Amino acid sequence: MGKNIVPHDYQISSKERKKLKGHNAFLLWFTGLSGSGKSTIANVVEQKLYNLGIHTYTLDGDNIRTGINKDLSFSPIDRTENIRRIAEVASLMIDAGVVTLAAFVSPYKKDRENIKTIVKDVNFVEIYINTSIEECERRDVKGLYKKARLGEIENMTGISAPYEAPVHPDIEIKTEETTVDEAAEKILKFIQKKLKYKINET
Ligand code: ADP
Repeated sequence: MGKNIVPHDYQISSKERKKLKGHNAFLLWFTGLSGSGKSTIANVVEQKLYNLGIHTYTLDGDNIRTGINKDLSFSPIDRTENIRRIAEVASLMIDAGVVTLAAFVSPYKKDRENIKTIVKDVNFVEIYINTSIEECERRDVKGLYKKARLGEIENMTGISAPYEAPVHPDIEIKTEETTVDEAAEKILKFIQKKLKYKINET
């Protein structure tokens, strides 16, 4: 912290906010290739949480790359900064008591490790949406693979830029053998206990 930045002692902490909401807050981080199904699955998870009365917010390319990160490219250094800023935003969201979902390719292992440091280990749930590059290219939801093959896009993950798959994700979803609803249920089941706020928790 800068030497002239002195934190103020606010009386309402994350503990009070959790108590008010009646549930814990943490980050559900979806990683995987473009078109793997991150946003599709996150969307269904968020609807299910909403129906349970859980306060949520989803961070994705649409609300981040067009706003806070609109100055960043897809170069390795900017990708790292992209993820760092998202993690800092997520950290504030968690402090605010919101279950935060984040759907980003996030291809580098070291960047995902850094998220864990920023939001704290216990608040980080890594969800690997594992879909083969062949299937992602076949789906080509945004037409990006076609463009990448034509050489119109640089640094396309899976084509001209690497994807470092998580080795020990908290949850792995193989979308070629799992429906969207099954995937969402698997995630809900995993976080069920984590969501419960106990009155004496800090
Ligand atoms: P991403 O957010 O990872 O870039 P999207 O969610 O935008 O990917 O796109 C994934 C596409 O794959 C969607 O069109 C979705 O309907 C399709 N899809 C097919 N099967 C599945 C599945 N089992 N899980 C997730 N998405 C699937």
